[in-house]
Order: sequence, then structure tokens, then C-alpha cells
Amino acid sequence: MEVDEDPVRLAHLRRQQLNLLARQATRSPFVIAIVAAVLAYVVSGHAPLYQVGLWGVALVALLFVRRAYALRQLHNPPVDVQRALGHMVWLAFAAGVFTGSAGPLFFPPLHAEGRALLTMILVCWTAGGVSTAAAYARAFYAYVAPALLPLVLLWSMAGDAQSIAVAVLILLFGLIQVFFVRDNERVVRESFVIRYENERLLEALERERQEVLFARDRAEEANRAKSQFLAAASHDLRQPLHALSLFSATLTLRAVDGTTAEIAGHINKALASLSTLVDSLLDISKLDAGAVRPELQRVNVRALIERIEAEYRPVAREKGLSFRVAPADAHVDTDPLLLERVVRNLVDNAFKYTAAGSVSLDIELDEQTVRIAVRDTGTGIPKSERERIFEEFYQVGNPERDRGKGLGLGLAIVRRLARLLGLEVELESDPGRGSTFAVTLARLSGEIPPPQPPRLPEPLDAGALAGAKVLVVDDEPSVRVGMRALLESWGCRVAACSGFVEAQRLLDDYALDLDVIIADFRLAQHENGIETVRRLRVRLGDVPALMVSGDTAPERLREAQASGLPFLHKPVSAEKLKETMLAVLRR
Ligand code: ADP
Repeated sequence: MEVDEDPVRLAHLRRQQLNLLARQATRSPFVIAIVAAVLAYVVSGHAPLYQVGLWGVALVALLFVRRAYALRQLHNPPVDVQRALGHMVWLAFAAGVFTGSAGPLFFPPLHAEGRALLTMILVCWTAGGVSTAAAYARAFYAYVAPALLPLVLLWSMAGDAQSIAVAVLILLFGLIQVFFVRDNERVVRESFVIRYENERLLEALERERQEVLFARDRAEEANRAKSQFLAAASHDLRQPLHALSLFSATLTLRAVDGTTAEIAGHINKALASLSTLVDSLLDISKLDAGAVRPELQRVNVRALIERIEAEYRPVAREKGLSFRVAPADAHVDTDPLLLERVVRNLVDNAFKYTAAGSVSLDIELDEQTVRIAVRDTGTGIPKSERERIFEEFYQVGNPERDRGKGLGLGLAIVRRLARLLGLEVELESDPGRGSTFAVTLARLSGEIPPPQPPRLPEPLDAGALAGAKVLVVDDEPSVRVGMRALLESWGCRVAACSGFVEAQRLLDDYALDLDVIIADFRLAQHENGIETVRRLRVRLGDVPALMVSGDTAPERLREAQASGLPFLHKPVSAEKLKETMLAVLRR
């Protein structure tokens, strides 16, 4: 740990040494003045008074000059520290000379006891100097040599053995002090270096901490921005999509000839795939908002696997792939709908990314676990991409972002769903030969309850809507027109308005009584559809109502859930709308 290797560190050390030295120099004059007074008293009977007085005054004056210089260094830290240290060394030397001059001035006229006393005082005095100059050894050397050497000379000049012994002792004492100060300075240096390094470390740590915090904030902000963007984009897409699907449903119903029916069919198909994309966006927003809560129950995976098999058998046939499914009875505690979505997404990808060969869906059992594995002999996934494919909008090999190749949301949804279910998505892949995606669940043992008879959807009674009086509240004119067209084609009687104020006017003017309200969630001028329904109900009593919304912002979704009203997400299919209307009317 050599200080001098690093010029910056050396400069810091010197500054600190100057500080220590200067601080001591501001205190020492008061003590030394007392010691000088004692010495003056001891020698006063043997030397001329003016001499004693001059010596004392000169010494104390010098010490105060040094004090003034030291104070200036403390208050106005010098630019050239080395030079200031040099001055301090010279001032220490001068103090040593003034102190040591007491020897030649007062030693000769004193008798033996007086000399011993003078020696004792001077020796103790220099010992005091150790603390004053210990931070910077050179200052002490410059002080102690002129302070003690005259005394050594004077004693040895006396010639007798005793006096020479005293001289040697003084010399030894001085040397011990020199060694002591040298060691002390090393300790000061080392402790300084340790402190300096610690401070640098702390600074570096603090800098890193700030950087980490900054990066975290940026990431959180980006995540928030992304969620907001997704919500906004899917809301804005939903509005026109919803209107379009209403028109297209009406068109299908009213198609007069074959060609129109065919066109309507194409429109419906295109709309269906657009809706799927928008639904994926909504799924992500909902999952991020924590608006999806798994409902755990005992589930036999066989049923789930067989459903998916039935769904994908035609796809396999169409693509000329072999589809091997090995269903088995095994019970797990999970949310069947969410688990099915996970597996369906994986099977869907397997078919999408396999051009030849096979796709298999296996249940692998052991005592404790049930592993659902989806294998394919498709393109495989390079190692470098295996983490990234689970990110939103990330796709391998689709830089042109051909929508036909998907949106890159499937696996992002899979991972979120799996996390909700407490599952890890395992992935093994051999590029060019195929991939295996799998999830492993804890297996339930014990009695297997008899399978529940499947709940069949109640048949839709379209006629039941005929004559129903419906109020549509939506600020989007095209949606109002579309809704009216569709509802009227079902035989409903429709009134449409853009918000609460207009609704009230309609109620006043036509003395409407209503069977059901269909309200948009986000209306113009910050009007909230839930609130609109609440206010209309104050007037109309407990009219059945349902909400339609294109909003996918997490807070909105939570608010919607809290309202207790049935919520449909735009674009709403004609079937879904009819089903929900019948459900609220039946209630
Ligand atoms: P999408 O399928 O819409 O592109 P996903 O999130 O489902 O989005 O998948 C992300 C990427 O992961 C895909 O673009 C594809 O490159 C890759 N991938 C997913 N499943 C497979 C698979 N079974 N075989 C090969 N690649 C796959």
C-alpha cells in the first residue's frame, strides 16, 4: 500500500498532514508559554533578566507567528500544499533553534542541580513536540535536532564521565523520539490510505447503487408505458372493430344473394382473426393488471387433452402432419381454463412451426407429477432465442412482421398464465429437428370422483329478444348505428344516445320504459358508463344492464370487475351479445 504511487492520493495525504500539523501549531503556543515561564523562573537568578526576558518574548512571539500562519492554512487551504508544508518545517526548525538556544544561554552559569533541571525541562519540552509534529516527521526532525543537540554538546564538553553519560542519554532520548515519530507517520499514512480507499469504494458503491436505481426506474417506466400503449392500442382498435362486427353480423343476416353472403363470410373471417389479435392484447393487459385470478379445482387432464385433440385433428389433417396424442387419467389441482389455454397455445405453435413430420401431445406420469409435453419435429429454436421468445412481440425469423405469422404474443401469454398457475414452462429444442415445450404439475392421489356431466350451453332463444326495449349508450356514432341495425334485426326496439344527458332527454320525451341498457364504458367528456347506468337506475329502478368496453387499461379492468355488471369486450360477437342480453333479461 504505497501512497506515493498514486499522485492524487499523495496530494490528499499531504493536505491531511498539513491540516494535522497546523491544528497542533494553533494549540501549542499556550502550553509552551507556560513551560517557557517556568524555565525563565528557574534560570532567572543566574542569567541577566533582559536576556531571559528577550529569549522568552522572542520564543513566544515566534510561536504565535507560527500559529497565525497555521490558522491561515486552515481557513484558506493553500493551492501549493507542499510549499506550505515546507514553511511549517522551517517554522518548526526556528522553534527548535529558539528552544535549543536556552542551552548555550543559560546552561553555563547554572550549578549542577540547575543544569539538571534545565535539561529535564528541555527534554520534556521536545517530548511535547512529538505530538505537535508527529503527522509530518520532517517537521519533527527539523525541530528536535536544534532543540537537543546544543544540550548534548554542552554536557559532553564538561568532560567528566557522568556528564558524558547524561549527553549520551539525551542523544538516545532524541533518537527514540525520532524513531517513534517515524513510525507514527507511517501509521498516519496507512490509516489515511485505508480511509481514502474506503471513501473511494463507498463513492463507487453509491454510484453503482444510483445506476441500478436509475436502470430499475427506467425499466419500470418502460413497462408502464408498454402497458399503457397496449391498453390504448387495443382500445382504439376495438372501437371500429366492434362497429364493423355489428355491421357484418347484420349484413350476414340480410344477405339477399349468394355473392353477398360469401363476401359477408369473408368479412366475418377477417374480423375473427383481427379479433383474435386484439384479444391477445387484452389478455396481456388483463394478466399484467392482475385481473385474472385462477380458480383452482380438481381436474382430470384427460378431458382437457381430448378437447384439444379434437380441436387440432383437422389442422393436422390439413397440414399433412401426424398428430399423436397419449391421454391418460391424472388429477391435478389447477384452473382448467387457464391450463387449457397454456396447452392450446403450445399445440398451436407446434403446428404453426412444423412443416413436416409430427406433433405429439403426451401425458407423462409418475407417482408425484403429471407432465404435459408438446413435441414437434419443426424448425426448432436456437439457444440464443430461447429466453427471448417469451417476450411480448418477439418472433424468430419474422422481421417483416407478417401478421399471418402471428403477433409474437402467444408465449408471452403462456408464461404469464403458467406463472399464475405456479408452473414453469420447460423448453428443449434442437434447431432443425424440433422442440418440446412442457409443464409439470403436482399429481393428486386418492379417490377419483366420477366425472361431472358436461354442462351444455342452454339453447339460444333468439325470439326471446323480439320486442325487447333496449337503450344503447355509446359516444361512437358508428357503434350506435351498428348496434341499432343488429338489435333491430333481432326484433328489438332500440333507442340510442351518446351519454347520460341525452338518455335523460329521451326518457323525458318518449316516456320510455326499458328492458335492458347496453352502455359503453368510456364515454365522451370523461363520462363513465358504470356511473351512467347507476344514475339511470335511480330513475328507472333496477333495469338489467350490461357494459361493453374497448378499454383494457389495468385500472379500468379492475373498476369494471368491481362494478358487478356483466362486461363484454369490444369487438363483441353477435352470439356473445345475444347470449349476455338473454342472461341479464332472464335474471
Ligand atoms: P407467434 O407464434 O405469434 O410468433 P409466440 O410468442 O407464440 O408468437 O412465439 C414466439 C416465437 O417463438 C415464434 O415467432 C417462433 O419463432 C418461436 N416458437 C414458438 N413455438 C415454437 C415451436 N414449437 N417451434 C419453433 N419455434 C417456435
